[in-house]
Amino acid sequence: MTEKKVQTTVYLTRKQADGLARLTFQTNVPSAVYIRQGVDHVLRLHCTHEVVVDGTVTSGTKRCVECGAVMKAKRK
Ligand SMILES: [Zn+2]
Repeated sequence: MTEKKVQTTVYLTRKQADGLARLTFQTNVPSAVYIRQGVDHVLRLHCTHEVVVDGTVTSGTKRCVECGAVMKAKRK
């Protein structure tokens, strides 16, 4: 899945930048990959999709069809 990407600029703390540089060095995975994973994580955590929820995983647990976030409140 090669999705078109847009450029952005973010400021990180020194600690975040050092940790990311270390991780990138040790794994040989580009830092942008980790940053995108982090953004996906936050977007799932704070789902803002206005979609009909679907896919009951376990009894009473509904997930957003767009991002897989567990829905807390009943949405239709
Ligand atoms: Zn969602």
